[in-house]
Amino acid sequence: MKDFIETAAVSSQTAPGKTGTGFRRFSHLSGCPDLAHAVFDRTGGVSTPPFDSLNVGFSTGDDPGAVMENRSRILSFLGLSRALFVNQVHGSDILMLPAAKADPQLFWKPGIPAPKTCITADGMVTDLPDLALVIQVADCQAVLLADPRKKVIANVHSGWRGSLENIIGTCVDVMTGRFGCRPQDILAGISPSLGPCCAEFKHFRKEIPQHLWQYKHPDKHYFDFWALSCDQLLEKGLRPDHVKNMCLCTRCRPDRFFSYRNAKKTGRFACAIGLL
Ligand SMILES: [Zn+2]
Repeated sequence: MKDFIETAAVSSQTAPGKTGTGFRRFSHLSGCPDLAHAVFDRTGGVSTPPFDSLNVGFSTGDDPGAVMENRSRILSFLGLSRALFVNQVHGSDILMLPAAKADPQLFWKPGIPAPKTCITADGMVTDLPDLALVIQVADCQAVLLADPRKKVIANVHSGWRGSLENIIGTCVDVMTGRFGCRPQDILAGISPSLGPCCAEFKHFRKEIPQHLWQYKHPDKHYFDFWALSCDQLLEKGLRPDHVKNMCLCTRCRPDRFFSYRNAKKTGRFACAIGLL
């Protein structure tokens, strides 16, 4: 990773109250008024193994009632009343929700089993208040984006396929092109995800284009997708001091995070951002 990318000053603390939900926040996003965000870990929910315990994914095989309760807990923790989850498929489609055109049917609220409509997308951008954009994670990156000046937020699901397609760059383009954001105003945070310690690609010659081999470890078949994401953000004009990476590897921390590479049958933790 380039040395001008700061590691986030991670504040890890346990929420007060009975849920004991573990979470982390990015220091620069924490400083923004009118913004709620958190990277929740797997603790403090009600799901039983192997989804223990704060699993927010309905498609994992977990008890839907437990997932509902877990989702309700994260919303209540954020102080927001509704959430947007998307059907994440490692593509590069971005769901835009301009305030004037938002369809309430898309939103999840406590007490309903699942939204009536779940749009397939891997990025979300909105200027709507009281709406948590939630990316569900088990190794892939969630990249939280916020423009505090224009009050526009985004959340991107960037797994290795998304990284190859530069969905992060596409999302920044949407923020600047459709929502009037300036790149220098955008703050970005990269969630816990598969780190360069564990992102092994034995078949990288087939799977990863040669221009990205610069992110490969010199001796091993390991790739640094954190560095790639940082570069994709900087290439779009974000300031280096606005790009933060928690630098926490999901596979190395099964006590805190769900990891698909650790266990195929597992839950999804929530990375969420919303305007108050
Ligand atoms: Zn690791």
